[in-house]
Amino acid sequence: MVLRVPLPLSQPADPPQDQVGLVDTFGRIHNNLRISVTDRCNLRCVYCMPEEVTFRDRSELLTFEEIRDFVRIVAPLGIDKIRLTGGEPLMRRRLPKLIEMLVQVPGIRDVGLTTNGILLAEHARSLREAGLHRINVSLDTLDPERFRQLTRRDGLEAVLKGIEAAQQAGFERVKINAVSIRGVSEHDAVPLARYARLNGLELRFIEYMPIGANAWERQKVFFAHEIVALLEAEFGPLIPAADADPRSPAQDYVYADGGGRVGLIASISRPFCHSCNRIRLTAEGKLRNCLFSLEEVDIKTLLRRSPTPDETGIIAAVRRSVWTKWEGHEINTARFIKPERTMHTIGG
Ligand code: SAM
Ligand code: SF4
Repeated sequence: MVLRVPLPLSQPADPPQDQVGLVDTFGRIHNNLRISVTDRCNLRCVYCMPEEVTFRDRSELLTFEEIRDFVRIVAPLGIDKIRLTGGEPLMRRRLPKLIEMLVQVPGIRDVGLTTNGILLAEHARSLREAGLHRINVSLDTLDPERFRQLTRRDGLEAVLKGIEAAQQAGFERVKINAVSIRGVSEHDAVPLARYARLNGLELRFIEYMPIGANAWERQKVFFAHEIVALLEAEFGPLIPAADADPRSPAQDYVYADGGGRVGLIASISRPFCHSCNRIRLTAEGKLRNCLFSLEEVDIKTLLRRSPTPDETGIIAAVRRSVWTKWEGHEINTARFIKPERTMHTIGG
């Protein structure tokens, strides 16, 4: 096990007994849980996963009941916001059933989904009926050939139909996530923004991060300020959004011409670790306190304790994991160590 930032000697290894909520030693309060429901995917995005991959046996994944139990146990600790992700979450059979179960957990006020959109057209309505609050669709390009190069699959048409179906099903403020990569985003940022503006979608660019299977270099990141310059040259001024959530990783802007909203997630050029409120549960039940964690905690064993989950053990494990969270990912330093897991096995 590697601990990148050793705890100072003066710092207790366990949170205070009387602590309310999931607070770490930097005072960050954690209310946001990202749950990966599968490591499988129907695309093979070059920045996320290798071309050839062996997926976990389905028996290794947490069941819906186990995921619901975990959420029920951590909700009283202050977790009130959940995002389902993967792999591709819509590859998990009966996902709307899980959503139905999660929205009923007392204290949970927001359940979202991040999907590549390939299967969204057929599931949008049932996701809505299950009570899903929000959908983000990942889409980096509107060019079919570049889509094929980036995802190693066809599917642009299916994604566009999925986005339309989500809007028709009644999802408001559907967000489009585009990874911002040099050599790609120069061509795609403006067409994506035009499409988003025309269709009432909220586009967000995420700087390319070192968490995929291929070699990452800083030069491959197309930075947030470069995106802003491209968009302003095409559409006119962008104004910082007045109602932006200070805890959101995105810097939100509105187009001065009334064309809607756009977000920049500058994970590399302007890390937001200081306001991080997230923890993550992998599909096979490992808890991670950071996307870039080198350590994780086995929750599945505690969930599978007979005859009922070990609630006390789970609460202690989650609180301790949050308490020992490091200050930040250190991507911009020589100390950075890339985690062994690639994005699709963590849940972005
Ligand atoms: N399959 C779903 C999807 O693509 O939306 C959910 C899982 S995917 C891992 C979640 C998000 O992570 C996507 O928006 C994807 O673009 C993003 N992502 C994957 N690898 C990334 C990387 N190396 N840098 C930045 N974002 C990345
Ligand atoms: Fe699959 Fe999403 Fe990763 Fe692309 S980013 S390979 S769609 S998990």
